[in-house]
Amino acid sequence: MPNMSLKKVPMPEQEPNVRNKNFEEVALGYTAEMAMEEAARCLHCKNQPCVSGCPVNVHIPEFIAKVAAGDFQGAYDEIALTNALPAICGRVCPQENQCEGKCVRGIKGEPVAIGRLERFVADWQMENGSDKVEKPVSNGHRVAVVGAGPAGLTCAGDLAKMGYQVSIFEALQTPGGVLVYGIPQFRLPKEIVAKEVGKLVQMGVDIEPDMVIGKVDSVDELFEAGYEAVFIGSGAGLPSFMNIPGEDLLGVYSANEYLTRINLMKAYREGYDTPIAKSKAVAVVGGGNVAMDAARCAKRMGAETVYIVYRRSMEELPARAEEVHHAKEEGIIFKLLNNPVKILGGEDGRVNGIECLEMQLGEPDASGRRRPLPVEGSNFVLDVDTVIMAIGTSPNPLIRSTTTGLEANRHGCLVADDAGATTKEGVFAGGDAVTGAATVILAMGAGKTAAESIDAYIKSKN
Ligand code: FAD
Ligand code: SF4
Repeated sequence: MPNMSLKKVPMPEQEPNVRNKNFEEVALGYTAEMAMEEAARCLHCKNQPCVSGCPVNVHIPEFIAKVAAGDFQGAYDEIALTNALPAICGRVCPQENQCEGKCVRGIKGEPVAIGRLERFVADWQMENGSDKVEKPVSNGHRVAVVGAGPAGLTCAGDLAKMGYQVSIFEALQTPGGVLVYGIPQFRLPKEIVAKEVGKLVQMGVDIEPDMVIGKVDSVDELFEAGYEAVFIGSGAGLPSFMNIPGEDLLGVYSANEYLTRINLMKAYREGYDTPIAKSKAVAVVGGGNVAMDAARCAKRMGAETVYIVYRRSMEELPARAEEVHHAKEEGIIFKLLNNPVKILGGEDGRVNGIECLEMQLGEPDASGRRRPLPVEGSNFVLDVDTVIMAIGTSPNPLIRSTTTGLEANRHGCLVADDAGATTKEGVFAGGDAVTGAATVILAMGAGKTAAESIDAYIKSKN
């Protein structure tokens, strides 16, 4: 008999007033008993709507059945058939819009907690399973991957399994992309990313850090060096600004820079002297997941007051509901229907306030969301000493500007077909570099598709 409880088995969490002062993981994970109880909520629907909601088609009912039976290694093996980074996906995928959004149990009550179960299984395997990975037999063909984010790592892993000799060229010193420099430690511990990357290295994938393609070598030079195909998974790390007065003041950061200083350069750890503002009051401009992460980091770095300044209302706020809920619990103040017009500075060149306008919502715009319109004369000032801009990012133009025949659209995203093939022969691309800022699992899905296309391409040439 399935467990017919309308609610998910709750996930234990650190208390809000404790966790907003540390960088330890917020959600603590299920115990084996909790996981088995939650797994018993699955109805094992014949048509498996949850699977169609998952961009990499994890065999969801099959792995959940194994969890319910206490066969955790079997559950892991089932997940690993289609997902190379389950400990990461279980933590950061927007399941509410994907697998869980399609779960039949969600029609009347809460869906099965597929993400929490995936996380439990992956963590169990890391602690109890074997971490030995078989090195596949080489087929003698070489592929270069640019960027060690989820798209590049997935593409490299799938190609390595097929026997390709894969080299990943990564601009930063640590592989993982946004998983290491963007998403904070309290949502995704970096040790988990390192372990998943370690498995790829065991499979024979060679990772070359501090290699900015387009500067050290160009894509054309990679072909000259003997690589038969190139996958570009260089993400969308170029931050946007509002172009309002005061953005050049000291104390104004892009969210990417702020988060990189904290996550990759470990500004939050004692013993690291990474320069970062010691803020008292912070305004984070934007309403997406990146804004929530920046605000929650600022709080943990010791800021007394942290505002989210967003020009629309809560209904249009794009961040995941769970992240907004956590941010509110941790004391972040939401200034909704407010838009910055000017950042104010003192004689010392430092931020000492942000001037905003109140907004009201008009008719829907091209995005389908109601357009924010300024309320004339409603200007007010928030006293802050730091402003973090989290209003979006786009792909860096470096690679396309140094590669012959590689086309991009007007947003700077590389043009690629559904199979990941770009406009240049032998060059494939996927993830944020093609779609613009999206999600981890979509980037992984694109890496997977491109690996299959690269395999077919190289076979067609030999
Ligand atoms: P990236 O992760 O950006 O990786 C690209 C890699 O390429 C980077 O390591 C970069 O250094 C490298 N690179 C760039 N240029 C070059 C070059 N010229 N030469 C060599 N290497 C290069 N998604 C979710 O699903 N859930 C979340 O909770 C979530 N939270 C997020 C929070 C933040 C703060 C941010 C910024 C994003 C978040 N996302 C989230 C989005 C998600 O992380 C991205 O969609 C995903 O990482 C894209 O993967 P990617 O491999 O395409 O690119
Ligand atoms: Fe189980 Fe939900 Fe998938 Fe149905 S849709 S099989 S209940 S996880």
